Amino acid sequence: MTTIKAPLSEGAGIARLNRSFVVGGAPVPAAPLNAGLYIVATPIGNLTDVTLRALAILAGADGILAEDTRVSRTLLARYGIETPLSPYHEHNAAEARPRALRRIADGQALALISDAGTPLISDPGYRLVAEAVAQGFAVTAAPGPSAALAALCVAALPTDRFFFEGFLPPKRAARRERINALAAVPGTLIFYEASGRLAETLADLALELGPRPAAVARELTKLHEEVRRGALDKLAAEYAVEEAPRGEIVIVVGAAEARAPIADDVLDREIAELLANLSVKDAAAAVAAKHGLPRRQVYARALALAGAAR
Ligand code: SAM
Repeated sequence: MTTIKAPLSEGAGIARLNRSFVVGGAPVPAAPLNAGLYIVATPIGNLTDVTLRALAILAGADGILAEDTRVSRTLLARYGIETPLSPYHEHNAAEARPRALRRIADGQALALISDAGTPLISDPGYRLVAEAVAQGFAVTAAPGPSAALAALCVAALPTDRFFFEGFLPPKRAARRERINALAAVPGTLIFYEASGRLAETLADLALELGPRPAAVARELTKLHEEVRRGALDKLAAEYAVEEAPRGEIVIVVGAAEARAPIADDVLDREIAELLANLSVKDAAAAVAAKHGLPRRQVYARALALAGAAR
């Protein structure tokens, strides 16, 4: 039987009978840990996506802070881990944080996990880490899955530079404003989104960013995993007529292409030509698609030109 070494110490850890975990039916003893805070990534769906070190830390810790203790019990039960759980989420963080810091000060090792993936990434924990560091405690990461990186890896979009936005505002006006502010980011964009809002968010992304290449990654690592790739406007049109898909979703969007800027007078000439036969909306859409420009930007010019011609 192999002992997986987590950082060793006598610590002032709580005496517990069982500090082991179970893999493939075999118990693996885990050593007690040095006092401190351990940020432990857990699976985003497939329960076998957990590292041996994560299991050793979860089994060796004096306590586990979990976003939703019921959700985390499934993972812990799967690996035979009996470490006591206590809740740490955005609604109790103000009281739970000082309690956790006192426990670390008393010599305990605490692991922080979220419902899925890497804690602190669109999940609670940032202030706990900052305060633990400010108080001079050791903070250690046990890295592992995160939906953002998993989606980036399968999106077939450039990975050399990326910008993680997380969740966009749920209200449409604020969402559009935020997307507009991201238009100039020189890298692939990554968004988390709730399935019920997917169609409207894709429509807003297409409107603000133009027909950029994108991917919708759904239920990654799970039974119904699906990755749909295509231009933003095409994806928006597809999801607009489909039933809202089930499950968890990441949207990945390619960066603005580095094209030579189009002179305003060239744009105006093209719009004016089309306005002879098309509505403002259709003329703007055609010119925006031709140059890969945000429709909203071209629409504003088309509206001004149509107004001036009246
Ligand atoms: N901390 C987590 C991480 O590292 O991925 C993210 C937590 S955030 C509250 C939850 C969001 O992550 C979901 O709404 C979804 O956008 C994304 N997500 C989580 N699991 C996913 C999966 N298996 N497939 C696709 N997206 C997922």
